[in-house]
Amino acid sequence: MNYFIYDNWQAKDRKGAIIHKWNCGHCHMGYGKLGSAKKGENGVWIGPFDEIQFARNYFQMKFNSSPIECSCIK
Ligand SMILES: [Zn+2]
Repeated sequence: MNYFIYDNWQAKDRKGAIIHKWNCGHCHMGYGKLGSAKKGENGVWIGPFDEIQFARNYFQMKFNSSPIECSCIK
């Protein structure tokens, strides 16, 4: 079970980064949804992380805020 962080760097409020599980409908193993947006245009995937805790630690260091997690984590 792997985890990814999706960093939506276009999000104005900088709440764009969210932790996802690899099999989340939003993730697709870090490739993101098929759409018109080019990879990296709106955001980037960070990962995989083997443990959710690794992703949380990274999130805290990188974004200097409490981890935000997708509903797929629960
Ligand atoms: Zn998710």
